[in-house]
Amino acid sequence: MENNASISGNWIEGLIRDFIATSPDNSMGNEAGEPAWDGALVGFASGVDQIWQQYKEYVGAFHWTPWEVFNQHHPNEPARPEELTVISWVLPQREMVRKANRRAKQYPSEEWARIRVYGEEFNVALRRHVVKSLEQAGYAAIAPMLVPNWTIVKSERFSYASSWSERHAAHAAGLGTFGLCDGLITAKGKAMRTGSVVAKTSIEPTPRPYAHHRAYCLFFSDGSCGECIDRCPVRAITEAGHDKEKCRQHLARSREYVKETYKFDGYGCGLCQVGVPCETGIPVKAAREALERGELPSPPPPLA
Ligand code: SF4
Ligand code: SF4
Repeated sequence: MENNASISGNWIEGLIRDFIATSPDNSMGNEAGEPAWDGALVGFASGVDQIWQQYKEYVGAFHWTPWEVFNQHHPNEPARPEELTVISWVLPQREMVRKANRRAKQYPSEEWARIRVYGEEFNVALRRHVVKSLEQAGYAAIAPMLVPNWTIVKSERFSYASSWSERHAAHAAGLGTFGLCDGLITAKGKAMRTGSVVAKTSIEPTPRPYAHHRAYCLFFSDGSCGECIDRCPVRAITEAGHDKEKCRQHLARSREYVKETYKFDGYGCGLCQVGVPCETGIPVKAAREALERGELPSPPPPLA
């Protein structure tokens, strides 16, 4: 299979939006049959973007570049970095899901836990659908999170990290910046899930409309806020950042609670993603207004 032409970003966006609107997999798995998601933000990053190399240096050598993961899984159709595009999407949490989790004090609401399980199952189906649709159109593609050798790595700098991070892909694709709690703050806020696919095609990259990888967080912008610190039931967030181990242990404990209380096998937390100024948008006024005006920062955003 080889197609040297490129496809448009609009075609991909349409593909993602149609799947959200029509797929039976878009479900919270409850009796009412409510959808997990009602829309998406979509962005694109070139495989040749310097940021992938920066991630290797900043996150760790184990973090794949797009060409590393693509070429591992398409050895018969190798691609150069400039021939690849990373397609990234953000699925913002629906209002009723956010509202329910805002009331949570220790463990997630049923709605949030359902999204963590069934909403992510849809996200997996969406990754597969995007790969399959691209391949049917003649473009080789891969979903890095779904390859068998994707793994979580113990990292000296980040405690836990992985061979591919959906949030870092979304950041590269112009979709958001990191908050004090480690979540990605997007134009639709931090309460969201994200996914990505690497494809052998050239799509116009989405400009990164931020001056810094933490530009949308109030704490890093002017030292204010820190509201996610008090939302965390186990104090896994402090002014020093996010303690991933504490967070992981709390997520593990939530399994028992979800099973006993909501009667399904699930888990989750996300208390720090709701009831905070970055829940549904960019809380830094200047950054939000610059984005609305379509302004781009100069020089290009550094990582640290
Ligand atoms: S709640 Fe405040 S400090 Fe925490 S990530 Fe959001 S903007 Fe930053
Ligand atoms: S940091 Fe982890 S444990 Fe704390 S509120 Fe956020 S998701 Fe929950």
